[in-house]
Amino acid sequence: MTLTDSLNRPLRDLRISVTDRCNFRCVYCMPREVFGSDYPFLPRAQILTFEEIARLARIFAGHGVRKIRLTGGEPLVRRDLHLLVAMLADIPNLDLTLTTNGSLLARQARLLKDAGLKRVTVSLDSLDNKIFKAMNDADFPVESVLEGMDAAARVGLGPVKVNMVVKRGVNESSILPMARFFREKGYILRFIEYMDVGHTNGWRMNDVISANEIIRMINAEMPLEPLDPNYQGEVAGRWRYKDGSDEIGVVASVTQPFCRDCNRARLSAEGDLYTCLFAVKGFNLRDLIRGGATDDEISQAIVSLWNKRSDRYSELRSENTISLPKVEMSHIGG
Ligand code: SAM
Ligand code: SF4
Ligand code: SF4
Repeated sequence: MTLTDSLNRPLRDLRISVTDRCNFRCVYCMPREVFGSDYPFLPRAQILTFEEIARLARIFAGHGVRKIRLTGGEPLVRRDLHLLVAMLADIPNLDLTLTTNGSLLARQARLLKDAGLKRVTVSLDSLDNKIFKAMNDADFPVESVLEGMDAAARVGLGPVKVNMVVKRGVNESSILPMARFFREKGYILRFIEYMDVGHTNGWRMNDVISANEIIRMINAEMPLEPLDPNYQGEVAGRWRYKDGSDEIGVVASVTQPFCRDCNRARLSAEGDLYTCLFAVKGFNLRDLIRGGATDDEISQAIVSLWNKRSDRYSELRSENTISLPKVEMSHIGG
């Protein structure tokens, strides 16, 4: 029987954060003032082992999960990640993907592909090094990310998707250059509205450039037409250049919320299960595992949590919700 929540939404997509650490300090995600050298990242013993993650993933797959995305923090800073990929690739009927900032991808792409990873999404907010470095705040150049994407495409981890978070006053001048460049390359560029995740990035509605604004801007130079979603619950709205050359996506989580179809759960690096990106608290599965729970007992905990789920934060977003306590994005991934 399909597992559904209180709003009749199935559980199909699991995002697994494999680390809360990152080699970038993106201003909208891990601002350096907060995530400085004395920030208390999780000690290794508190982080799920690969065996624990794989065991949970199998149980989730038994409840209808068909897609797993590895994320972080930066997933590629977790040592030997390809070993986890190999364990997850053994689970039948699973679409296994990864979101990365791309900085360490060039040297790991082949290993990840051989281990069974299907595709990658690489985040890149500008092609202009001045803007990009100001956003990643770690002096990483655009070129190393592009090398990572190209390596991924070469070894067959495509079609490569590119995530660009757009923040007003910071990188809107990069929208058109990014669209032109990736149309040429054939990678699928997805524009993401800047979100009020966590409580450290100082989010304001004025900083959001809406998906409609982005589409209007691109359409004026390179005419676009809408495409149907690939599947129910797809987060990115799809558009195609009218000359048929390529497609782009827009993730309008702020201005056009898609909670109604949200079938995603998120597992943090320390094994907390979150049923919404904007949740305050997760359900601790690690203690259950380490306390000797059987697969059936873990299953029951997941079923009862999902059955009760009623999250729809983005549909309820208002001035009052912005200041609510929320888990940080770097803790549970995108
Ligand atoms: N470190 C990896 C990366 O950057 O791709 C994976 C984790 S990161 C949290 C996942 C995605 O969330 C990235 O594409 C990132 O740009 C996006 N993201 C982070 N903070 C965001 C925010 N405030 N609003 C919208 N997207 C955000
Ligand atoms: Fe790191 Fe990704 Fe967050 Fe940037 S968006 S700080 S790369 S986790
Ligand atoms: Fe899903 Fe929560 Fe985002 Fe709505 S706000 S789409 S329920 S994660």
